[in-house]
Amino acid sequence: MRVKHLRACDLQESGWYRGTLSFVPFGTKLFCGVMADKGRSHPLSDCRRTWKESLLIMKEKLKEIREEALSQILASDTLDKLNEVRVAFLGKKGKLTAVLKGMKDVPAEERPMVGQMVNDTRTAIEEALEETKKKLEAAAREEQLRKEVIDVTLPAKKNLVGHRHPNTIALEEVERIFIGMGYEVVEGPEVEYDLYNFEKLNIPANHPAKDEQDTFYINKEIVLRTQTSPVQARIMEQGKLPIRVIAPGRVFRSDEVDATHSPSFHQIEGLVVDKNITFADLKGTLEQFAKELFGPETKTKFRPHHFPFTEPSAEVDVTCFKCGGKGCRFCKGSGWIEILGCGMVHPHVLEMCGIDPEEYTGFAFGVGLERIALLKYEIDDMRLLYENDIRFLRQF
Ligand SMILES: [Zn+2]
Repeated sequence: MRVKHLRACDLQESGWYRGTLSFVPFGTKLFCGVMADKGRSHPLSDCRRTWKESLLIMKEKLKEIREEALSQILASDTLDKLNEVRVAFLGKKGKLTAVLKGMKDVPAEERPMVGQMVNDTRTAIEEALEETKKKLEAAAREEQLRKEVIDVTLPAKKNLVGHRHPNTIALEEVERIFIGMGYEVVEGPEVEYDLYNFEKLNIPANHPAKDEQDTFYINKEIVLRTQTSPVQARIMEQGKLPIRVIAPGRVFRSDEVDATHSPSFHQIEGLVVDKNITFADLKGTLEQFAKELFGPETKTKFRPHHFPFTEPSAEVDVTCFKCGGKGCRFCKGSGWIEILGCGMVHPHVLEMCGIDPEEYTGFAFGVGLERIALLKYEIDDMRLLYENDIRFLRQF
């Protein structure tokens, strides 16, 4: 049989239709899918008689689109591929969109039914897209989490944390004791005028303490301070009375390094100036200090001594906290350990600093910080404090 310009309807009527005919969207027109008439399809609108037939074809086509879309969606293993499928079917030039565009060729009475079919297809594709998208996103998230997983059971990298130097620990201990007694902590310059370091402390130009072998001179008038005592003069000069201060700081002397000497070390100066201050106040203060620093059993002993800027002056010993005063290697058998020098502020020093010695009196003391640290931690060589050997420092 020679078929000329055969329409779908003719085919059905003639028994040729087997459900394999396709309903071909082409441009914005719907064409009957039958390739006839020299291989060209004719517009569907020409098939008016055969709408029942065409609907069947369209249903077939939509089913085809839907199955193709679903299988491509299922095969998509990345979000990018999934998006390509979405564009291919639902995009502006997508297969389903083309069908929608052809709706205008569908007779008005058929449109609701055709529209419903297209919508169902669209919904099915969209749902499949959404579901697969969620799965892929969840998988991507899982993968990301798996990559970034932190094993909390692994031992942590330890940061080496430093701690305070024994000198600092000793200083803070001394500061704590004096602050508890109402003292203020003050500081003075390490590079000091000769005037403050010596003259104002009753150490005249020809005094042996100024020996060039002892002192680092910057020039004739400026020195690296040899003691923290110049802070006394600076505080008294300010004229704010009463005074109750300690002044810790670094001092310098031209000494060779050995187990008990260093060209740079630390002192803590103490100064009290007020009305009616007596040697009894000095004794009571330093006794209390010794008890708090070395323990409540500690006894103190004041030995007469000489310092140019105090009168009278004394050196203070405490009972050996190792043997309690019986005598041991630590205290070289004496039972006593020397810890500081002190005395009543010399009236001449008060006068030079603008304070009336008839009205005010005061006491002063100076402690070697290293001496306190060496005693407290039973260190037998001062050099250990400065060598920064981590094995040594770790012990404190
Ligand atoms: Zn002892």
